[in-house]
Amino acid sequence: MAKLTLKDLEAHGKQVFVRVDYNVPLEEKGGVMVITDDTRIRATLPTLEHLIKDGAKVILAAHLGRPKGKREPSMSLAPVSVRLGELLGKKVGFVEDCVGEKVEKAVAAMKQGDVILLENVRYYAEEEANDPVFAEKLAKVAELYVNDAFGAAHRAHASTEGIAKIVSSKGGQCAAGFLMERELKFLGEELDNAARPFVVILGGAKVSDKITVIDRLLEKADTILIGGAMAYTFRLAQGYKVGKSLVEPDKVDIAKEALNKAAAKGVKFLLPVDDIVATPVKSEKLDKKGKPVIEWQNPAENPSMDCADNVAGLDVGPKTIELFSAEVAKAKTILWNGPMGLFEDKRFAQGTFGVAKAVAEVTEKSGAKSIIGGGDSVKAINQSGLGSKVTFMSTGGGASLEFLEGKVLPGVAALSEKTCRGCCK
Ligand code: AMP
Repeated sequence: MAKLTLKDLEAHGKQVFVRVDYNVPLEEKGGVMVITDDTRIRATLPTLEHLIKDGAKVILAAHLGRPKGKREPSMSLAPVSVRLGELLGKKVGFVEDCVGEKVEKAVAAMKQGDVILLENVRYYAEEEANDPVFAEKLAKVAELYVNDAFGAAHRAHASTEGIAKIVSSKGGQCAAGFLMERELKFLGEELDNAARPFVVILGGAKVSDKITVIDRLLEKADTILIGGAMAYTFRLAQGYKVGKSLVEPDKVDIAKEALNKAAAKGVKFLLPVDDIVATPVKSEKLDKKGKPVIEWQNPAENPSMDCADNVAGLDVGPKTIELFSAEVAKAKTILWNGPMGLFEDKRFAQGTFGVAKAVAEVTEKSGAKSIIGGGDSVKAINQSGLGSKVTFMSTGGGASLEFLEGKVLPGVAALSEKTCRGCCK
């Protein structure tokens, strides 16, 4: 059954505890922490503006970084409260704790439409442990609960799951915020009832990370396009040479199973037909783990499905871009997760950008729905400058992958069910 959403909530005059995803990138500049990208803060504005207009008392909670249960000043949410205040055009109170007396005092002083932000919930180890006593402390000020943090919904933590159960047990409603609702709509309903042809583009580093998603999408998609390093494990399964490409030889059997399933189900399953290869050379520089950084030299087009022994495939080639773009052009629904190559290096970004262009075009010209799974795919499409041209970009990396795998996300499961008003009879 569908979950309760913000519009179902009777929030007027109530203390509404809202879990948001404010895990924003921060940089130290002249001794102060500065937010370098406020996308996640902006993404919550529709939910917050709705609650403010409704006359709720809005209590925001979030995590930032991995302070591992300690008060790490560089991971304080204080700078976020300032930025949020600027974006909302009203003062956002900041409370230097997320449980206890300071919070209770601040909430007692709130008026309708006020907003406060609590300090990083991960300053307490009990948050990630989903400790029920801690969840009870968080819930002390919550009459209603809203979860708008899709990116954290795959974790059963005290502020994402434990608190919702407590609020519910006391008769309070627990609803999805607008951002969460959109995530569930696009990654759930829209893909379950996808307009056809439904084309899935999968890329990224490893087959092992995405095999469950591939398996599930083989039940739904008409066409699956595989790029990125993961394509080399499929190529290996088909007997091609992969040279020094990033590959998982122990996953060849899984890849073969997926290829067989695609054939049995009549799903068009396309691998790259050419690539951009380069020679790896160990440099003098060391990475964080003290290993030599690999430099890629002599990038060149490889017009074959085989890679020479001394090179690695780092991007899909021009013929593949053409082939994939032609499939994308026919689509009515597109789901894309994972870049087509090592896009962080612009010499190997053309495949990802080329496919992004095709996705943007079909969205604009034919009204296809294009849904971009979170993480690196979103980074890549933003880097291509086409972020605004797709239908939906997920804000959750791990969460979107788990949701696409068909897993129940604890942060979603804990929300109240919509009560039937006779509409589903
Ligand atoms: P994922 O998190 O699985 O989506 O993987 C994304 C990462 O895969 C990005 O950092 C890409 O640079 C990397 N990647 C994609 N294709 C390749 C490739 N052919 N060789 C090495 N890394 C790749």
